[in-house]
Amino acid sequence: MQTTIEAAKLAEEVIARCRTLASFSEDAGGTRRTFLSAPMRDCHREIARWLEPLGVSARVDAAGNLRGIYSAVDSATPRLLVGSHLDTVPNAGAYDGVLGVVLAVTLLQALQGRKLPYAIEVVGFSEEEGVRFGTPFIGSRALVGRLDDELLARTDAQGISVRKAIQDFGLNPSEIAQAKLVEGVFGFLEFHIEQGPVLEKLGMPLGVVEAIAGQSRLQVVFVGRANHAGTTPMNLRHDALAGAAEWITEVERVSRQFPGLVGTVGSVEVKPGASNVIAGEVRMSLDVRHQNDDVRTQVVNDLLRHAEQISQGRALSMRQKLLLSQKAVPMDPLFVAQIEEAARRAGCQAHRMVSGAGHDAMILAERTPAAMIFLRTPGGISHNPMESVAVADVAKAIECGVSLLDQLAASSKFQSRTCRA
Ligand SMILES: [Zn+2]
Repeated sequence: MQTTIEAAKLAEEVIARCRTLASFSEDAGGTRRTFLSAPMRDCHREIARWLEPLGVSARVDAAGNLRGIYSAVDSATPRLLVGSHLDTVPNAGAYDGVLGVVLAVTLLQALQGRKLPYAIEVVGFSEEEGVRFGTPFIGSRALVGRLDDELLARTDAQGISVRKAIQDFGLNPSEIAQAKLVEGVFGFLEFHIEQGPVLEKLGMPLGVVEAIAGQSRLQVVFVGRANHAGTTPMNLRHDALAGAAEWITEVERVSRQFPGLVGTVGSVEVKPGASNVIAGEVRMSLDVRHQNDDVRTQVVNDLLRHAEQISQGRALSMRQKLLLSQKAVPMDPLFVAQIEEAARRAGCQAHRMVSGAGHDAMILAERTPAAMIFLRTPGGISHNPMESVAVADVAKAIECGVSLLDQLAASSKFQSRTCRA
């Protein structure tokens, strides 16, 4: 990349392309593009049209992922994957996922026909959000060999299975094994909007993800005694909701004591739920995330102990159920260091951060060194039509990306670390 003017021009085009893809939607007047829906076909066709002049012929694998290879200077086998997902949530913005795919195409454009000692495969994952089948990462799971029969049998709201959806799209489910990563893949790079307020708060355009946070999800239930709100004196109550309220503020207080930890009670269900009845039962969700699994587990245990104490103090009973415990996924340290260097060369500093949300890179990391570059998200707004990115930030991402490609080209050590096939 010679000048920032050129990067700025490419960045304008990136934004226009993301907006074009946002128009391929199942809903009129908003963006909704779920796994293997009709507008996904339009999306594939459009990206294939951008790839063609770059000498890349795109194909769709049996899991519905769009894939195209920009060949190396010779028939060398090492290959870098760059991409993100093409599906969206309902009433989506134009950049979540899509930006990472469009930027992958743009990096090839920025090479201006120049070949590297390794090939670059652009990947547009078919499914990441979990909207249609209630199961996320269907696309990236195929690349690590985890799109199995059990997952293929899951059904959507219409009773259509993943397998049937694949067939209906004109693909062959028996070829899914061929979608798996091949030997010689030495990394996966994903650009993604941050979807949070941290980079904006710091005034930094780019972030580099060190790890994707581990997650615990639980259900916590307080049981008291429902009774008349008018006739039961305050000292003779077993109010499950008052106990829940005390615990929820405790969740906030404890979570604040651990840097980087987030703890949330996002759902509260009160029974019987009438203004003149003391609450007899309260069901709550608890969501705790942190990059260190030991810290996360310790905080969850502390919070459950507090819940026990609060319920005892109020003569309530308490029960809990663990719904999910997902380990943190570190990104590749060597890759992270290379991205920091690339950002410096692009004239900015990439903020090291933890992703509180799951991403395709988390799945790919099972098989190959993976890394993510976050772009500042204005207002931290995402999963919303108001979602946006700044042209200047996209330009920085392009410059950083091109530097990174060149650094990796110079590092045979990096390319030699191929995937666990
Ligand atoms: Zn996303």
